[in-house]
Amino acid sequence: MSASGRVPQGERSSLGGQGLTARARRVRLLVMDVDGVLTDGRLGLSERGDEVKFFNAHDGVAVALARRAGLKTAFVTGETSTVAKARGDKLGVDKVVLGARRKGDVVESLLTELGLPAEAAAYVGDDLLDIPALERVGLAIAVADAVPEVRAAAHMVTRAAGGGAAVREAVERILKAQGVWRATVHAYIREHGGSPERWR
Ligand SMILES: [Mg+2]
Repeated sequence: MSASGRVPQGERSSLGGQGLTARARRVRLLVMDVDGVLTDGRLGLSERGDEVKFFNAHDGVAVALARRAGLKTAFVTGETSTVAKARGDKLGVDKVVLGARRKGDVVESLLTELGLPAEAAAYVGDDLLDIPALERVGLAIAVADAVPEVRAAAHMVTRAAGGGAAVREAVERILKAQGVWRATVHAYIREHGGSPERWR
């Protein structure tokens, strides 16, 4: 880690780092970019121009766990395709912002709307448009295959690449720092008919 607490280019942050845990503990709002974070960044186009994106089901459960733990969630994308909106709505994401070219401003408005300080936000990104948002939050997260400039601006770099359940990893890190991971997972399993106490 550099003096500023950011991860130097090409270097993985220590996932068990004290500073990182303190940052994760304060998070109340989780903001995610879509292409390259919730997807692997590839865009499928049909002859008719319909867009296809592939989301990771593990990230879908991660959003459910984050919400269950009381975090607010948001998708912020520079794209205007309604695919992200459909995915966000399906997962019950609190806010989906399409066509965001100034993501730092979007994050600031979300914080103002929720009455939260910058330290209470985490942002997961992969490309240059995400940097202004990463600079404004308490916990800046880059996916493993983010561009070097984004990894350099992050406090944490996930082991997983975009579309490879990187958001699941981020949510696990945050909820573990907050001491609610186990209870949240157990509640989720119970809600779906399981008995977590039987296997612990
Ligand atoms: Mg992206």
